[in-house]
Amino acid sequence: MLRKLFQTTNPASQPFVVSGSGTLGWDMVAANLAEPGDDVLVLHSGYFADSFADCFGVYDVNATQLKAPIGDRPQLAEIEKALQEKKYKLITITHVDTSTGVLSDVKGVAELVHRVSPETLIVVDGVCSVGCEEIRFDEWGLDVILTASQKAIGCPAGLSILMTSGRAIETFKTRKTPPGSYFGSFKNWLPIMQNYEAKKPSYFATPSPQLIRALHTSLSQILSRPLEDRFAVHAATSQRIKKAISELGLKQLAEKPENQANGMTAIYLPEGIPAPLVLGALLKQGVIFAGGLHKAIAPKYIRFGHMGVSVVSFVVPVLVSSFLFSFQIFSIFFIIFPFAYSFLWCLDHQG
Ligand SMILES: *Cc1c(COP(=O)(O)O)cnc(C)c1O
Repeated sequence: MLRKLFQTTNPASQPFVVSGSGTLGWDMVAANLAEPGDDVLVLHSGYFADSFADCFGVYDVNATQLKAPIGDRPQLAEIEKALQEKKYKLITITHVDTSTGVLSDVKGVAELVHRVSPETLIVVDGVCSVGCEEIRFDEWGLDVILTASQKAIGCPAGLSILMTSGRAIETFKTRKTPPGSYFGSFKNWLPIMQNYEAKKPSYFATPSPQLIRALHTSLSQILSRPLEDRFAVHAATSQRIKKAISELGLKQLAEKPENQANGMTAIYLPEGIPAPLVLGALLKQGVIFAGGLHKAIAPKYIRFGHMGVSVVSFVVPVLVSSFLFSFQIFSIFFIIFPFAYSFLWCLDHQG
């Protein structure tokens, strides 16, 4: 089922499901696919790239970050220049940076890397995108997508999930130094994953049966309908939310439409409206939004998650009206409009 989720039919592709969170995926990439002294290029579209780069540092891998201004992503021309200046063992792309709501153009970057630096492995951090953004592992020629169970896959937290290409596994097998991790070593997990798929019992470290069951349930639900439909519902919902937000006069961190994630929205609050007040008002209505995460501007914005079950089961209109409702508490200008809008929204959604 994971092969279907990542849209790969290539028998050389190898999934891994290991107890841990999304962060473990960074360690597994750094420990298995790069060697001490290697250069890697980290495309930065928010907080998560800084952390991925730190993770490489722990394994003595030299991470160069290509940074974009807040709310933007590195442009193809800059990436091309960086790839021409130096040989990189791998490049990492945060598909959706959860701190900024910025969506990366994975397909475009992958095409560029194939053209300019074909030996460079393409690693996608899909923790906040797998299950809500289109990803085509084979067609786009990706080498690793790492994700976690708890975001758009909609399962409890606790599983680190990776899809790797035959080329990534070959890179691992031909490394000169042993992998820099024991628990996270592909050497230990590869035979186990192959045996699991062949339905042969096998042991390296105890898996979490309850989470594996939960993942099976989530994947069965996700794959019960065409993935295209799932992506389309996320995109349509996201458009409505973003429209509601701009009609309120609020700005998103990701200003350019092509940079905007479909599974979440990061929203600047107007001057003088403190995030804790808005978050607290939402919480009173049983709705959880997240605070800011990008270090430079954390108190100035909030994050609205609209992925997975909240989207496919039509919970979003409730969330939007809660947001509008909470918002109006803080500004007289917003009193009439939100009710009208959320009412129209609900009518629209029923139809
Ligand atoms: C949440 C997240 C992570 C970290 O995942 P954890 O499960 O919290 O360890 C990494 N990258 C991105 C883009 C994320 O959204």
